[in-house]
Amino acid sequence: MDDLLKEEAQQLMKKNGNVKGEALRTQVEYVRSRKGEDGLKKVLKKMEETGYSLEVEKLKYQHWYPEALDALFILTAKKVFNWGDEDIFDMGKFAPRQSFIVKLSAQYLFSIKNLIKVAPMIWKKHYDFGKLRAELNEEDRKINVVVEDYKIHPVMCKFFEGYFVSVFKFCTKSEKIEIEETKCAFKEDSNHEYVLRW
Ligand SMILES: [Zn+2]
Repeated sequence: MDDLLKEEAQQLMKKNGNVKGEALRTQVEYVRSRKGEDGLKKVLKKMEETGYSLEVEKLKYQHWYPEALDALFILTAKKVFNWGDEDIFDMGKFAPRQSFIVKLSAQYLFSIKNLIKVAPMIWKKHYDFGKLRAELNEEDRKINVVVEDYKIHPVMCKFFEGYFVSVFKFCTKSEKIEIEETKCAFKEDSNHEYVLRW
């Protein structure tokens, strides 16, 4: 029994805000693709020990689930496989490539200007809380992405980095994209802010 994880789970589950089952599915797919069915089972079992379980077969893509459950799944996988930040970043990168929601929005992702415009809407399709906005500075080849009213767990900050890089890569076709979280709601700032450069 992992008391630390259990304690963390209890703290997490107090937080409000929901995410589409779609997002949970992509996280499950990531673990499955890297660690196989057995690896996934290990994570689900460990999660169950915290008192909060995820029934993968019953996941409905369009239903809302607590975002805390999503974060708990990621944290549990991190623990089970002894993953570091780069693995969580990689998990974030994987997600939009798998996501129906992002695929459905693909028609809007053909230009950076469009991406900036539809980014808040794509956020809303995934979450029933928080906000995302993006600002483009074409001259400096940079984009600022601000995530407001989202404070579930710091593990998600890394996940988002990977996620944004992946979406941005799709849009720009650029191989060299850098991202940095310059403000973080888990530090002294009120929002999370990321700077993407290409
Ligand atoms: Zn952050």
